[in-house]
Amino acid sequence: MNRRRRIYEGKAKILYEGPEPGTLIQHFKDDATAFNNQKHDKIEGKGVLNNRISEYLFQRLGEIGVPTHFIKRMNMREQLVREVEIIPVEVVVRNVAAGSIAKRLGMEEGTPLPRSIVEFYYKSDELGDPMVTEEHITAFNWAVPQEIDDMMSVALRANDFLCGLFLGIGIKLVDFKCEFGRLWENDTMRIVLADEISPDCCRLWDIESQEKLDKDRFRRDLGGLVEAYQEVARRLGLHVENNPQPNQSGPVLVRSQ
Ligand code: C5P
Repeated sequence: MNRRRRIYEGKAKILYEGPEPGTLIQHFKDDATAFNNQKHDKIEGKGVLNNRISEYLFQRLGEIGVPTHFIKRMNMREQLVREVEIIPVEVVVRNVAAGSIAKRLGMEEGTPLPRSIVEFYYKSDELGDPMVTEEHITAFNWAVPQEIDDMMSVALRANDFLCGLFLGIGIKLVDFKCEFGRLWENDTMRIVLADEISPDCCRLWDIESQEKLDKDRFRRDLGGLVEAYQEVARRLGLHVENNPQPNQSGPVLVRSQ
């Protein structure tokens, strides 16, 4: 397993060369980071939960016709994905004011937005992922206008679907971040949803209690992050091992639904 070629290591994930050309293995680590890596910790079990939750959400999105990089889950920490050329833009969709928009515009957290708002951020650790506009994206050639349109429409479609899915289990999807990649098939290219969708990159609030069931528990030192992610998995009907081995990377028995 360790002899696999490591293609990229990020803050919470590692990408290894996959078994077939054009595939990669996406490995979910237990590392939690915030504020551009100024806050860093290992939270045992987080990677296993994100792998399972992201698998579930990408599968459901795939079923409604949202193109994604996801192929299949391999084991507790890893999934097989299609190799894509990541567009260096993070797309954030917001339904309720929280986090940076609340701070930037002086809004009270929890204020519903008049409509879903899409924002773009340039993926750069050195710069702290600055917010950018479509003008920056096209002027600096990070993506062409058609790709921006595709990213926006897929992000909004995913938002509509995920809002309903979470509403059904008593959770409000406040906002989420997604990433896109270019998938080449022969001579044609299409934009697909890539990376992950998990409580690490969404804000999820319990509808009744407003309790946070996402990474804000880590960012804001609220504690109980694994318990919150387990609660999200439980409500989604997922059975995730309670005591995963830290950083186990080989194939392990995963209880099916
Ligand atoms: O911090 P901010 O309010 O801009 O975050 C909006 C959403 O995007 C949140 O759900 C947050 O978890 C996610 N996000 C992310 N990765 C980043 C920045 C934000 O997953 N680098």
